[in-house]
Amino acid sequence: MGERLYNFSAGPAALPVPVLEKARDEMLCLPGVGASLMEISHRSPAFDEIINAAEANLRKLLDISDDYAVLFLQGGSRLQFSMIPMNLMGAGNKKADYLVTGSWSKKAVAEAKKVGDVNIAYDSSDSNFDHVPDQSQLNLTDDAAYLYYCCNETIQGVQFSSEPTPPAGVPLVCDASSDFLHRKLDMDKYGMVYACAQKNAGPAGVTIVIMKKELAERSDKGLASYLNYNTHIDENSMGNTPPTFAIYINKLVTDWLLDEFGTLDKMFEQNQSKAAMLYEVIDSKSDFYTGHAKPGSRSVMNVAFRLPNDDLSAKFLAESKAAGLTDLKGHRSVGGIRASIYNAMPVAGVEKLRDFMIDFSDKNS
Ligand code: PMP
Repeated sequence: MGERLYNFSAGPAALPVPVLEKARDEMLCLPGVGASLMEISHRSPAFDEIINAAEANLRKLLDISDDYAVLFLQGGSRLQFSMIPMNLMGAGNKKADYLVTGSWSKKAVAEAKKVGDVNIAYDSSDSNFDHVPDQSQLNLTDDAAYLYYCCNETIQGVQFSSEPTPPAGVPLVCDASSDFLHRKLDMDKYGMVYACAQKNAGPAGVTIVIMKKELAERSDKGLASYLNYNTHIDENSMGNTPPTFAIYINKLVTDWLLDEFGTLDKMFEQNQSKAAMLYEVIDSKSDFYTGHAKPGSRSVMNVAFRLPNDDLSAKFLAESKAAGLTDLKGHRSVGGIRASIYNAMPVAGVEKLRDFMIDFSDKNS
C-alpha cells in the first residue's frame, strides 16, 4: 500500500481517514448483512437504516426542521443549475435574482437563462471575482421567484461570511457545494441549500438537496418526473436506485463529524484556525504571495494565491509535491496555487503547508 500524502484537491477531495478505515473494514461484508453495501438492494432494511441515518445526521448537524426535505440526488451540482429554475420558476413567476461572484454562479446563470429571466443582482466579474458584495450593493427584485447565490466559490476562493437577505417572501437558494457542513447555517433563512458531496460530504455521485417542502409545490406537473423535486420528496430519494455507496460514505462522514466534533460550531473553529495559518503567511510575506480574494471575502475552504511569476509557481508545485503536499495547482482562470482545506484536511497538513510556504518564500525571495 502506498503512503497517504496531504492532498489539497478542490474535489473530489480528501476524506477523513476514520471514514476510509471504516469503509475498508466493511467493504467485504456489512456487519450482520453477509454482503457489502454495494451488493444489496436499495430497498433492503440495511440500506434503509443507512439512508435514514444519513438524513438524521444532517438534520442534527444543521438543525433542519420537518418543513424541509433532505434529498440525495444524482447529476451533481450542475444538474441543480437546471432543476432549480425548472422547478422554482413554475407557477408563473419566471424571473429570478442571481449573484454572480465566481465561475460556478456564472454557470448557474447560463442555465437559468434557458428557463426564464435572470436579473443579475450583483456581478464581480470585472474584478476577476475577488470579492463578495455587501447587502447594500445588491440590486434585488421584490417579486423574484428566488434569490440565488453560491456561498463559496471554489475556484476563486471567495466566500460569504453570512447569507444575503432577500426581499420579504423571496426564498433564498444557495449552492453550498464547496463549504457544506463547514459551519452551522441558519436554515430558516433558506428556501433551499444544495451541495455535491465530493468536497466536504463524501465521494462524487450524490448531491444533497435540502429544500422547504412548500417550494416544491410550484413545480409544473409537465416536468420530466426525474427533474421534478416532488418525485424525490414523495419517494424519499428512492424514485430510482440512488447512489447507495456515496450515501453510505456520506453517513460515515456525518458520523465522523458528530463523533469527532459534536457540533458544526466546533468544526468551524478548527476550519477558521486552519485558514488563518495560511492567510497569515500570505499577509506576512506579501511581497512574495498575493492572495486572490480580498481580505473580507477570503474563503476558509479554498485558499487561492499567486507567486511572483509562473516559473516560481511551477517550482512551488514541484517542491511541495516532493514534500508530500499534493494537488495544489490553482485553477487556470486564477492561476497560481489553490489549497483546498476542507473539514477532512488535518491541522497537521495545514501546518506542514504553512511551514513549506514560509521556507519557500525565504529561499526564493
Ligand atoms: N458548484 C460549486 C461551488 C462547485 O465547486 C462545483 C464543482 N467543483 C459545482 C457547482 C459543480 O459540481 P458537479 O461537478 O457535482 O456538477
